[in-house]
Amino acid sequence: MGTKAQELVGTDVKKIVVLLNKAFADEWLAYYQYWIGAKVARGQMRGAVVGELEQHAAEELKHAVMLTERIIQLGGTPILTPEGWYKQTNCGYDAPEDPSVKALLKQNIKGEQCAIEVYQKLSGATKDKDVVTYQLALEIMADEIEHEEDLESLLEDMSQK
Ligand code: FE
Ligand code: FE
Ligand code: MG
Repeated sequence: MGTKAQELVGTDVKKIVVLLNKAFADEWLAYYQYWIGAKVARGQMRGAVVGELEQHAAEELKHAVMLTERIIQLGGTPILTPEGWYKQTNCGYDAPEDPSVKALLKQNIKGEQCAIEVYQKLSGATKDKDVVTYQLALEIMADEIEHEEDLESLLEDMSQK
């Protein structure tokens, strides 16, 4: 428990932990959506798309690690069950029922756009209140922006022939 860390954040600490846990749920679901999408993907440019999906899966897992560490520093408990991810997610989970690479890219672009909004809001809620979480939100948001652009570029390349 980060006693001083919690004291610095002050009265908003519980509210911030709730937001962190909701983002944490999103990251696990995004991780799995990418991970399983990479396994089932079919269609044109599959190699390039699978490489990108696998890389993003690893990065979403890294985000989950970053968020857990902050939740614990603030005296919170990270969500302990997969059922909890479903209850608390902002962005939900889209099963890759259509394994075509285009459908996968579209689903994951939607997920990234939701994630960008989540971190935009988290940065707004923590600016001037909790600088460490604020920095974390900006750092993760920069990754999500990169993810969106990576996937949109792949989709664009695919549409060009
Ligand atoms: Fe992420
Ligand atoms: Fe992402
Ligand atoms: Mg990438």
